[in-house]
Amino acid sequence: MWGDKRYHTLNYELRKIFGQKVMKLSLDGGFTCPNRDGTLGTKGCIFCGEEGSGEFAGSRCLSIKEQIEEQIKLLSRKWDTNRYIAYFQNFTNTYSTCEELRNIYFEAIEESGVVGLAIATRPDCLGEDVLDLLSELNEKTFLWIELGLQTIHEKSAKFIRRGYPLSTYDEAIEKLKKRNIRVVTHLIFGLPNESHNDILKSIRYVAKTNTWGVKFHLLYIQKGTDLYEYYLNNPFSLMDKDEYISLVIDGLELLPKEMIVHRVTGDGKKELLYEPKWSLDKLKVLSGIDNELKIRGSYQGKKYMI
Ligand code: SF4
Repeated sequence: MWGDKRYHTLNYELRKIFGQKVMKLSLDGGFTCPNRDGTLGTKGCIFCGEEGSGEFAGSRCLSIKEQIEEQIKLLSRKWDTNRYIAYFQNFTNTYSTCEELRNIYFEAIEESGVVGLAIATRPDCLGEDVLDLLSELNEKTFLWIELGLQTIHEKSAKFIRRGYPLSTYDEAIEKLKKRNIRVVTHLIFGLPNESHNDILKSIRYVAKTNTWGVKFHLLYIQKGTDLYEYYLNNPFSLMDKDEYISLVIDGLELLPKEMIVHRVTGDGKKELLYEPKWSLDKLKVLSGIDNELKIRGSYQGKKYMI
């Protein structure tokens, strides 16, 4: 229904819009996060690694222009394209003065071949001045904002030390929608003490808010994080591959067909991953999802209800 997929992938959508393959360039804008600099906390979210959730980004020692050139060089070995989305992934990418944000974002979108801008941030870091800047960028380029909601359940939000309530996410969505800015919501599957049903409730919630896109992440234990320490002291059950695949499909069925699915697997670094090891074989997980969708006669939106 979406090329060779039974769900609405980002790849499909970007090809439709830009007429060719578009690659994301993961950039490090040199930001920090209120959950780490002492404003809300110093330890960050429990699963967050040293590099602030963006282990594959360019180096912050380089300028944005240099990072873009470096990433293009790396990707050109694998992909034949000259269209890119500049993706600010590490830490909280709207957590600075508007002047600095403006300089960084514009440096990125002015590079040749950059057709869009993706900014990962927190819903509590979107003041009116930042929103005004985002509106301006939205006029100039293909913009989307990524918000790490992870779960709608307050108990889990406390456990992961997210640092804001669900209402803050709701308010941010409202404000961004009013400005016609695309939003992608991140959800994590497999948090301790969350049942299959709890996760489906989070998915239904995001389906109802009808953001432009969604990312499904598998909870994985990465060495060097507080979650790793917690897991060693309080081992909890982690999802196996079949369980995860089944959950992803249940989730896809609940989404509206127009919602873009940016990700359906985790993406941890091999050398840092402790568990679950099966998550390293991304291709197997992706083909497992495709196969199971076929076997079930299923597709995105099959059970979506307005
Ligand atoms: S909000 Fe993002 S960058 Fe900040 S601590 Fe949490 S995961 Fe890390």
